Amino acid sequence: MPETRKGLVLVYTGPGKGKTTAALGVGLRAVGQGLKVLMVQFIKGSWHYGELDAARMLGDDKFRILPMGRGFVKVGVEKPDAEDVRRVEEAWQFASEQLLSGEYDLVILDEINYAISYKMLEPEKVLAALRRKPEMVHVILTGRNAHPALTEFADLVTEMREVKHPYQHGILAQRGIDY
Ligand code: ATP
Ligand code: MG
Repeated sequence: MPETRKGLVLVYTGPGKGKTTAALGVGLRAVGQGLKVLMVQFIKGSWHYGELDAARMLGDDKFRILPMGRGFVKVGVEKPDAEDVRRVEEAWQFASEQLLSGEYDLVILDEINYAISYKMLEPEKVLAALRRKPEMVHVILTGRNAHPALTEFADLVTEMREVKHPYQHGILAQRGIDY
């Protein structure tokens, strides 16, 4: 008999929209299957995201979302801001503890790829934790520019490709769609 249950490592990356929302969709599906879900957001957005309230409606014991970043991180600068790095390290400390504890069935590391690509977190640390995680725990890593060592290790990698985005026509972020 083939083993039917397996903890998976999923990566949602690429420049198109849909990475975080795909992870939230899996989270919703998992809650419906009685799994406990944790999402740690490494980079906090500038709006109050609908998913924070939606997860609370499901219950903190079922779907917990923790925004741990500082909002917008300066991009294009050589060296990341020390305060941003500190926040990312704190988020990683917490997320890796939760991942290794087996307390949650699905752990979503939102925008962790972004934190790694901006050199705020070493990919080796993440890889080491993924190797040591309890077998049955599922993990999702989101964000652009996923590190090759992580996509290599992952069971599933999906790249969002931008075909069209309303932003190109000057249409700004919409409530319920973007935040
Ligand atoms: P979402 O959270 O909507 O699934 P995402 O996680 O794929 O988006 P991020 O890189 O986290 O994308 O970007 C966050 C914000 O930027 C979202 O509000 C999203 O709508 C917007 N965004 C995503 N992709 C694009 C794009 N290609 N052009 C313009 N804005 C985008
Ligand atoms: Mg995102």
